[in-house]
Amino acid sequence: MSLLDSAIVRLLPAVPKTVVQHFSARYIAGATLAEAVAVVRDLNAGAKMATVDVLGEEITREEETRAIAQAYRDLFAAIDEASLDSNVSVKLTALGLGLSYELCRENLLDVVRTAAGYGNFVRIDMEDATTTDDTLRLYRELREGGHDNVGVVLQARLKRTLDDIAALADLRPSVRLCKGIYLEPAAIAFTDAEAIRVNFLRCVDSLLDGGCYVGLATHDEWLIGESLARVSQHGLGREEYELQMLLGVREARRDELVAEGHRLRVYVPFGEHWYGYSVRRLQENPAMATTIAKATAGRLLGLRS
Ligand SMILES: Cc1cc2nc3c(=O)[nH]c(=O)nc-3n(C[C@H](O)[C@H](O)[C@H](O)COP(=O)(O)OP(=O)(O)OC[C@H]3O[C@@H](n4cnc5c(N)ncnc54)[C@H](O)[C@@H]3O)c2cc1C
Repeated sequence: MSLLDSAIVRLLPAVPKTVVQHFSARYIAGATLAEAVAVVRDLNAGAKMATVDVLGEEITREEETRAIAQAYRDLFAAIDEASLDSNVSVKLTALGLGLSYELCRENLLDVVRTAAGYGNFVRIDMEDATTTDDTLRLYRELREGGHDNVGVVLQARLKRTLDDIAALADLRPSVRLCKGIYLEPAAIAFTDAEAIRVNFLRCVDSLLDGGCYVGLATHDEWLIGESLARVSQHGLGREEYELQMLLGVREARRDELVAEGHRLRVYVPFGEHWYGYSVRRLQENPAMATTIAKATAGRLLGLRS
């Protein structure tokens, strides 16, 4: 990444929302449930599974968290009605974690019970490191309460993750493993790209050795290859692991992996609260930086491009 690109990427939060929306459209199914259903239907037609996320990142009031829980109820009904091959992903802050642990648990239980009623599954996304303890605590509470249709996400970026895998081992958790999008301080996280990769593979080994179901969530070609080699060494069948990618990223590669016989799930976010998610995705895609800078300059100067 050039110095100019990285500077622009850091300045993204200052870019007008309309510009961000334009460039992030590829990463988001749309604002409505109907749009999300249409995207999942297309993915399913191309032999991909989905996990749908109701975006709710800028939420600050209890009523808003209840509305997100309701949106998940509607989502499960829509998935069922259209016979889609999709589970859901939830962010605990959208369900109220930033307001109170109890409120979040109540909303999450509601979502997990609704899912169970439809024979569906809930993946709890992992957010920044201030939420890790509460997220893993809630996950354990649910599992110990007999809710087995729930999985969690672990981030290879965090130094604690191997210990977390060991601590969760008695639950044989279903884990989505990713690098981790939130930039955390060096005291608690690997900051070097190679160190994150190395830790990702250590985590894959540890999870597979522990007999866990793993969703390998990465677009990193080297990591995909190394992870799949481990899956093969463990002699896992097609149904015993999955690859995961984000909507709008490496679409051609997705097709190849499916053609090679792997199951692949695409993360499909939708909803009104698209902004925070969009900025993070664009920050991961430095190739867009110059284009966005030009569009922003054009807008600020009152030009139309
Ligand atoms: C299904 C799924 C769920 C996730 N859930 C979480 C979560 O709960 N918590 C969390 O912290 N993180 C989550 N992430 C994000 C993850 O942690 C990484 O930040 C992200 O996947 C980028 O890391 P990478 O492994 O793909 O490697 P990178 O090295 O970042 O990317 C490898 C290559 O993929 C392509 N690429 C990656 N991102 C983009 C993009 N936005 N636009 C265009 N091309 C791109 C580029 O070609 C890049 O060179 C999730 C990722 C996936 C795939």
